[in-house]
Amino acid sequence: MLGIFKKLFGTAQSRLLKRYTKIVQDVNSWEKTFVALDEEGLKEKTLSLKARYQEGATLDSLLPEAYALVKAACHKLYGTDVHVSGYNQKWDMIPYDVQILGGIAMHYGSISEMQTGEGKTLTASMPLFLNALSGKPVHLVTVNDYLAKRDCEWIGAIFRKLGLTVEALISSIPPHERKKIYQADIVYGTSSEFGFDYLRDNSMAHHINEQCQRGHFFAIIDEIDSILIDEARTPLIISGPSSASRQMYDDLKEHVGNLVRLQRDFCNKLASEARKVLEQHQLLDETLIPQDRKKLSKEDQASVKEAFKKLWLVGKGTPQNKVLKRLKENPDIRVEIETQETYYHGEANKPERLEELAKLYIIVDERNSEYEITDLGIANWMVGSSTESSEDFVMLDLGHEYALIDHDTTLSDQDKLHKKVAIREEDAKRKERSHNLRQLFRAHLLMEKDVDYIIQDRKIVIIDENTGRPQPGRRFSEGLHQAIEAKEGVPIQQETQTYATITLQNYFRLYQKIAGMTGTAMTEANEFKEIYKLDVLAIPTHRQCIREDVDDEIYMSEREKYNAIIKDITQIHEKGRPILIGTESVDISEKLARILKQNKLEHTVLNAKNHAQEAEIVSKAGQYGAITVATNMAGRGTDIKLGLGVAALGGLHVIGTTRHQSRRIDRQLRGRCSRQGDPGSSKFYVSFEDSLMRLFASPKLSAFLQKFRPPEGEPISAPILNKSIETAQKRIEQRNYSMRKHTLEYDDVMNKQRQEIYSFRNEVLKTKDPISLCYDILESICDKSASLFLVEKASVWNLQGFCDWIISHFPVAITPKELDDDYLTLEDIQHKAAKMIIDAFKKKLDLEANTIASVQEAAGKEVNPVSILQEVIKSLLIANIDREWQEHLLAIDHLRTDVNLRVVGQKDPLMEFKHEAFILFDTFITHLKTEISHALFKFEMMPPQSLQIKDSIERIQHKRQMTKFFNAEIENDSDKKKADIIG
Ligand code: ADP
Ligand code: MG
Repeated sequence: MLGIFKKLFGTAQSRLLKRYTKIVQDVNSWEKTFVALDEEGLKEKTLSLKARYQEGATLDSLLPEAYALVKAACHKLYGTDVHVSGYNQKWDMIPYDVQILGGIAMHYGSISEMQTGEGKTLTASMPLFLNALSGKPVHLVTVNDYLAKRDCEWIGAIFRKLGLTVEALISSIPPHERKKIYQADIVYGTSSEFGFDYLRDNSMAHHINEQCQRGHFFAIIDEIDSILIDEARTPLIISGPSSASRQMYDDLKEHVGNLVRLQRDFCNKLASEARKVLEQHQLLDETLIPQDRKKLSKEDQASVKEAFKKLWLVGKGTPQNKVLKRLKENPDIRVEIETQETYYHGEANKPERLEELAKLYIIVDERNSEYEITDLGIANWMVGSSTESSEDFVMLDLGHEYALIDHDTTLSDQDKLHKKVAIREEDAKRKERSHNLRQLFRAHLLMEKDVDYIIQDRKIVIIDENTGRPQPGRRFSEGLHQAIEAKEGVPIQQETQTYATITLQNYFRLYQKIAGMTGTAMTEANEFKEIYKLDVLAIPTHRQCIREDVDDEIYMSEREKYNAIIKDITQIHEKGRPILIGTESVDISEKLARILKQNKLEHTVLNAKNHAQEAEIVSKAGQYGAITVATNMAGRGTDIKLGLGVAALGGLHVIGTTRHQSRRIDRQLRGRCSRQGDPGSSKFYVSFEDSLMRLFASPKLSAFLQKFRPPEGEPISAPILNKSIETAQKRIEQRNYSMRKHTLEYDDVMNKQRQEIYSFRNEVLKTKDPISLCYDILESICDKSASLFLVEKASVWNLQGFCDWIISHFPVAITPKELDDDYLTLEDIQHKAAKMIIDAFKKKLDLEANTIASVQEAAGKEVNPVSILQEVIKSLLIANIDREWQEHLLAIDHLRTDVNLRVVGQKDPLMEFKHEAFILFDTFITHLKTEISHALFKFEMMPPQSLQIKDSIERIQHKRQMTKFFNAEIENDSDKKKADIIG
């Protein structure tokens, strides 16, 4: 079955390749006719292609000529100097046929899988040029600022030759200069710069002139797997200090710390007791073969069994326990512990299992990164401290509480309302407290210092799990960051509130077309297809790849593994071959560096926080005798060229210090050598203490190891192992995929709402007549209210209620009498009421216009009062939209945590979320319109003090100062917030 699939897949790929190869021939024959063109000729040709597009020619039809033009430009550049990254470089690139092929696939919206060193940077130039002929925005997304700048300078030479403009969007460019950057035909930049600009344009710009992007037409994403897969789990967030902070981490941290410590001490005790028993019975002496061991009495057997039970329990309570880890290096012990686990899985043994687990305070599930507080833990918590703590694990049932209040006949209506409000407050507080509590436990049990985060200058800095790089400025979401701060005793940063947020996936969905390139996409082809509708096409290499991938070496313990790695390094280094060693984390890089130093092996460690430096170090990794230690994705995108004579020695040797969570990252590391037909080799080292094996290898494997355990220092080599590693990796890939999909599903809900509100906001920014927009808003809010009060004449027809509503919201005196006409339909009434409200608003506007006119007179300046009012109204609308939207985002955040609490009730949190988010949005829209309606009648143009008159006029003309004219309420703090974000 699989075979057929493969064949189908294979032929689909080769069919496409064949089709595109024909186009490559077209390109090459066009190119022959272009060689004769001089510089001016090239530019003219570009213009004529642009003109043809305007006249209706499709980009597809222009492709052969456009690509040929790029190739011709490369010929012109050949041998000339191009200034890149600070020095001049001789241009030596003319696109190979495989590059043209990759470029064609990208124009058709695919991912071109091209190996490292195949020249993807140049490949992208062709589809970029072609699509920019449309005059629409074309973006190239790179991994970091350094590459954005480098590629823009380097490949930009082609576009400049052809008369197009190109710019690099890097983080140091201030907001007001960005509009200019986006005007360029082609823009190079990182995903977060593009994404944040989008968010700023739509949530912070107060005028269309402040919006910098000019739309989303075509984007090519370089190293697309890294961006859409590895970085997909953290959304882009613009946040600022929250107005109301309710964090209770300080209150709770000590108590949580105590409970965790209690558990740790308990587990330590169990573990050392168990070790003592095992020692006593010589079970830890690995030199003994079973026959040599003394026979155990029945009693002894029982106590050994008890010891394994304890160890199993330690694994449930503190999976990282040092004694346990050390004991598990011994495969016999490991198997015994796993046997215990299998035993407990039996249905009949479940009660026994529960009884054991009940001895713990907390059960930690490292694999699913979850935990659970046991009854014992809860009981312990309650005796702990404050009175409040007894309620930490009990949630209120609001509906029930309300009913109780309603049934209490001793209460007046007023009292009932008060009570309900109070109980709702209490509920919110408890939820917040329990949320804080859960995050604190998570911080203690599942977040590890120097693995998940580091402490720098009394701040918690996230470590990127893929690159191992510190990520200052980013924060764990949903309060986890504060929880870790509390755990580590560093100052707890003020809680933040989300002003705007989007996932990278949803940002890229804004483009009409996206394409990508990378050396490693095939293993994730399914995901690309399913989520982004992107096909992956494997492009043949320019020269055959002759890399030698040696089989993995697998060791029982980390110690043995590192010894073997050092041995390998020493031998290869003696011959002068350069070596690149990839590590999983900064931590391991440093560990390895220490070992290398002890062994007197000169080396460079790549822990750079600076991409430019990083690129330079990596680029030297191919020199004679070089040893470079780097985290896996460090220097991604930088080419490793072989030094003189190195090819003859066998080229670069790549060592992987562990298999990674996904096969793709392994492939990426291997791909660092043997570029463009160079010689090279790669080899991975694995130990059973690696997290991959510890968490995901099967018990069967341990049983196997027990049988075939090699002597100390010898690797285990058996085909079954390679397979289990791959199975473990596939399992994690699958799990991570579902996590990403999950994030996306939640974000999808937000995406629709975001698009709606952003498009409304843009309408406000763009309109020349915001006052008319206000008429619409007033009318719609009035209509909606009428339809609630006046459903049907026979039954629900509450004219008085409707009039009261109008009176309480607008300065409009209205009585049921005015509307009480038997002949009036709902529509008539709506119309009549709306007209009264709008008329009142018009009067209000006249009044304000008069004030402006008097200012104008006093200052002796000519200003049109209406145009000023239009501007004032515009900023009033924007201020309200922004404030309410932020509130809504907060509500959605809370909803997310809230629905997760409901899993208990057998409900699907996602469904619940979708449903309630929808209702919340509806409420938000109504509320927003109501708030706007209020504001429209409340704002006042202040009659200026005579001395400040001139000054005021100046300000009137400057929209940013507009809020100065508002009374205090409208002024609100949105500008202040904005300043906070920028500052
Ligand atoms: P990738 O991104 O695919 O890993 P790069 O774009 O960084 O590769 O290019 C790798 C190296 O190959 C660069 O040094 C570049 O100068 C060189 N190169 C790319 N295309 C060509 C070409 N057509 N002719 C000569 N050299 C090329
Ligand atoms: Mg590259």
